[in-house]
Amino acid sequence: MNTLADIRIVLDHTSHPGNIGAAARAMKTMGLVDLHLVEPGSFPNAQATALASSADDLLDRARIHSTLSQALEGCTLVLGTSARRRSVAQERLEPRQAANRALAEPGQVAIVFGCEKSGLDNAALDRCHALVSIPTGVDYMSLNLSQAVQVLCYELHLAARDARSTHAEEVRALATAERMEVFFERLERTLAAVGFSTPGQTETLHRRMRRLFQRARLDDDELNMLNGMLSRTLKLAASHDHPQTRPHEQQDPQSDG
Ligand code: SAH
Repeated sequence: MNTLADIRIVLDHTSHPGNIGAAARAMKTMGLVDLHLVEPGSFPNAQATALASSADDLLDRARIHSTLSQALEGCTLVLGTSARRRSVAQERLEPRQAANRALAEPGQVAIVFGCEKSGLDNAALDRCHALVSIPTGVDYMSLNLSQAVQVLCYELHLAARDARSTHAEEVRALATAERMEVFFERLERTLAAVGFSTPGQTETLHRRMRRLFQRARLDDDELNMLNGMLSRTLKLAASHDHPQTRPHEQQDPQSDG
């Protein structure tokens, strides 16, 4: 399982230095940090620095290579990006699928972007396990390079966030079905005891309560808290029905109240 730090963005033969800076900014805003440049037209460059804005640290750390092979070293999955259909059949992914694939990969991943004029050449496309295309309108399919980087990084960011929250859900000790049944039984008794549910409407009410609490995916601590509230409510309801056995009177026999 990868994090965003395991995913490198490779810009192949970028001619406009402004695009390198804008790509760095696109990466940093989405939590990616590893930028690789293959034979950039002009780098370092003041325009790149200006367009990177506060992401200029990514430019300082960017790795510069003379061949694509060097930039892909150590990667087990290489995804190329392309607006165009290729005659050679190659697996095609949309950005969301690509992001999920990249995060599920057990090794380092490279996402490769081509040059502004002609995109990735055939030799570069041949290095890719799959190609990613950003869905577009039919009349004009070619995004600005840094905007394509932004779309991919955004999807990676969302996929990483979802993976984290799924993981957090897994490590929470969720209440078991048996414990939930005990809770629902106590909830039904409590609602009846305080006169909230009346005989004719109880079944629908209980079903809606069930749905509400099942949706909440309660963990053990939360269930303990709710059970405590219900126990206390049941006790108070009982003492209300039999005022001579009010809990505070039992606890404090000295009371003259
Ligand atoms: N004229 C080139 C376009 C290059 S755009 C061509 O026809 O291929 C520069 C780079 O931006 C592309 O190599 C690709 O990496 C990325 N890009 C642009 N539009 C894209 C899209 N719709 N889907 C995926 N990547 C895209």
